[in-house]
Amino acid sequence: MKSDIEIAQSTKELPITEIAKKIGLKPEEIELYGSDKAKISWSGIKRIKKNNKLGKLILVTSISPTPAGEGKSTITIGLGDAISNQLHKDTLIALREPSMGPVFGLKGGATGGGYAQIIPMEDINLHFTGDMHALTSAIDTLAALVDNYIYQDNSLELDPNRILLKRGIDVNDRTLRKITIGQGSRFNGIEHEASFAITVANELMAILCLATDINDLKKRIGNILVGFSVKDEPVYVKDLGFEGAIAALLATALKPNLVQTLEHTPAIVHGGPFANIAHGANSVIATNTALHLSDYVLTEAGFGADLGGQKFMDFVSNHLDKRPDAVVVVATVRALKYQAEGTTDHLDEENIPALEKGFANLKRHMENMAHYGVPVMVLINKFASDTDQELSKLKELVQKDGFECEVVSYHDEGSKGGIKAAEKVVELTNKVGDFTSVYQSEDSVEEKISKIAHNIYHAKDIEYSDKAKTQLAEIKKIDKNHLPVIIAKTQYSFTDKKKILGAPEDFTLHVKDLALKNGAGFIVVATGSILDMPGLPKHPAALDIDVDNDGKISGLF
Ligand code: ADP
Repeated sequence: MKSDIEIAQSTKELPITEIAKKIGLKPEEIELYGSDKAKISWSGIKRIKKNNKLGKLILVTSISPTPAGEGKSTITIGLGDAISNQLHKDTLIALREPSMGPVFGLKGGATGGGYAQIIPMEDINLHFTGDMHALTSAIDTLAALVDNYIYQDNSLELDPNRILLKRGIDVNDRTLRKITIGQGSRFNGIEHEASFAITVANELMAILCLATDINDLKKRIGNILVGFSVKDEPVYVKDLGFEGAIAALLATALKPNLVQTLEHTPAIVHGGPFANIAHGANSVIATNTALHLSDYVLTEAGFGADLGGQKFMDFVSNHLDKRPDAVVVVATVRALKYQAEGTTDHLDEENIPALEKGFANLKRHMENMAHYGVPVMVLINKFASDTDQELSKLKELVQKDGFECEVVSYHDEGSKGGIKAAEKVVELTNKVGDFTSVYQSEDSVEEKISKIAHNIYHAKDIEYSDKAKTQLAEIKKIDKNHLPVIIAKTQYSFTDKKKILGAPEDFTLHVKDLALKNGAGFIVVATGSILDMPGLPKHPAALDIDVDNDGKISGLF
């Protein structure tokens, strides 16, 4: 089989103007980026918002993944193509923009795989329409403005050692986790410790994904907590007056991007927070726009259902014009074997006992999602090495637990690789669910953490570090103890330790750090040893990437 990039490059895309027309956008409502990408203009977004239509929302999440990913994006795209091209229903896909960190590092991109991809995949995985660069510039401009304020003025007596803002870069660069800036001459600014987080983990990315328009964007930027003064007073961006400039830097990036799948299903690809260290879903503007344009909208929540799935249900869906009508949990035979064996070494060999043992992990994810009251089904993403016995065993295990299940091969066959599955998912969206959150909005931060830890992760105890206790006291003091929580945790385990697999009980969740993201409107709760700046592996994906003299890129998976 050809590689993902070879398949993508051998596909003739439709002009993006035709894709826009297909979903009812007027020519003046798109801004072209070449012939195959466009942003939707504000006039378009505002008109669409008034549409009475509100399509069915299908959320795709997954089992705890292996390091290579389990094919959520691939299934989201393939299922979208199947609903669109095999069932002939109006369909739109809403996905996150890839971060370049993983593209050059370990995991690869986020444009799907095989015959279920969004294109142009090289552009989307690299610079796309410049949103990530705009965000990186905005993050670093804000940090520089704050440091300059301390150097030039500082009438608010902002303490340089209590600045909470991080600098940003869309690169996995472990050397930037902790740095000292302003060293040398006093003309170089005030010397203090600083750090970088990857762009997608920064609060400005979350804000871009949650803002409903430019005014809301500006308001949220103004509400970012910069740090504390020497008198222990909180200092917000609006106290320094930088929100207008930073919003101006992000205004174009706030407009959603339109592309297409290999089978010409329209896709809106916009915003890209990770789900292990951020909230893990594409922008609210993208999903809401899609819901008002189309009968069926597919979107993905990052990593396993304990991370992106939980965050989507308890947090993101509160910002959408509707909650999900159905949830698809993607599972693979490989991931179940990994859950049982803890190694990726023999995933290609038949191993029914490992599959049965690893099922505990999938079972918990399915049941967790079902507790939200939305209909749930499992799609098994078939890999070439899976045996028929393994696939039927897995289907049997899922069905025995009372859930619908289908095996799909969208990766190898495109939309034809799961027509029955598409029919079942569509059917599922007609079942009426009764939505319940894991926590109530009025719960305190500790109560929210506790409810997620007990009900989703199945932790027995929660242990707060001294640092987290101090931060919690600060959060209470400035009256932010009611905000939603976004738990940052390894994606490989229900616990905060990546090697503890399966469906463990009776473990302690270690809360290490609490960070108020006041503009985004949540508190990031770091557990275990999770970091907001990933590192590169020993053999980074970059070693396989190349470009020829005609500008043709190779090796992007
Ligand atoms: P996720 O969204 O869960 O991270 P992706 O959809 O990005 O996963 O897929 C990760 C990688 O796995 C991609 O390179 C994709 O081509 C590959 N992949 C996905 N499904 C299959 C499959 N059924 N067979 C072979 N490779 C697959």
